[in-house]
Amino acid sequence: MDYTNAMEIVLLGTGTSHGVPMIGCDCPTCTSDDPRDRRMRTGVWIRDDSRGVLIDTPPELRLQGLRFGIDRVDAVLFTHAHADHIMGLDDLRRFNWLQKATIPCFGRADALAVVRRTFDYAFDPTPTETYRPAIELVEIDGDEPIDAAGIRVEPVPIYHGALPILGFRIGGFAFLTDTNRIPEASRAALEDLDVLVLDALRIAPHPTHYSLAEAVEVATEIGARHTYFTHLTHEFKHAETEATLPETMGLAYDGLRFALGDDGRFAPAETKTPPGRIGSEGE
Ligand SMILES: [Zn+2]
Ligand SMILES: [Zn+2]
Ligand SMILES: [Zn+2]
Repeated sequence: MDYTNAMEIVLLGTGTSHGVPMIGCDCPTCTSDDPRDRRMRTGVWIRDDSRGVLIDTPPELRLQGLRFGIDRVDAVLFTHAHADHIMGLDDLRRFNWLQKATIPCFGRADALAVVRRTFDYAFDPTPTETYRPAIELVEIDGDEPIDAAGIRVEPVPIYHGALPILGFRIGGFAFLTDTNRIPEASRAALEDLDVLVLDALRIAPHPTHYSLAEAVEVATEIGARHTYFTHLTHEFKHAETEATLPETMGLAYDGLRFALGDDGRFAPAETKTPPGRIGSEGE
């Protein structure tokens, strides 16, 4: 495949739990012709030429794998265990098969307990003729850095309403979805960022997500070189909303990529990976 060797990060989905378009909605965003207004559920793929790491396993993981050419998953990082972040886990079977390996899945103990309960068949020791996901649950302890397939990942403890969850920092890239509070202790881990991807659910305040205005304020405080907002509802029409944002900020969209440059910094990138076998018109 026509990959670059350098590390690249692909936003697989940038939509809220319902996805955009929403079922049964004919609003201007849900009927938009702009492919950036079509948002699958939130997930990220981090790759270089020898390995791949997923953040979350959203329900469209198979479609995202086809569309964005996901060819390796050597580890999974779970932000939390809400349905829109874990329900694609069964699709990891394909990577078990391709790689002939069990996939370590990292997360907080409470999130891993939900994964174990939801996908209990994957942990059933009874021999079976069906092909189950082969995953190993690995608990993340606080903000202690972890080794995910050889990639150093710093967990960033944040809050999703009252629920403690995790964001992740990899080099100059940080991904903080499903949050409306970044505690002071985690702010230090967000200094000198090249790219910040941050939750901005909708226009009005919400009990467990940042609104766009709140997210802009927090992003200004953090001061990353580039900030992109994710986990978006249909309230945001891409082009119209982008035009209202400060210069260093934008709305994320499915397929947005960041590449690690020769200077060791992540920056938004033109696509270098294959377009995949399902295009934006094809779902
Ligand atoms: Zn979510
Ligand atoms: Zn709509
Ligand atoms: Zn959530």
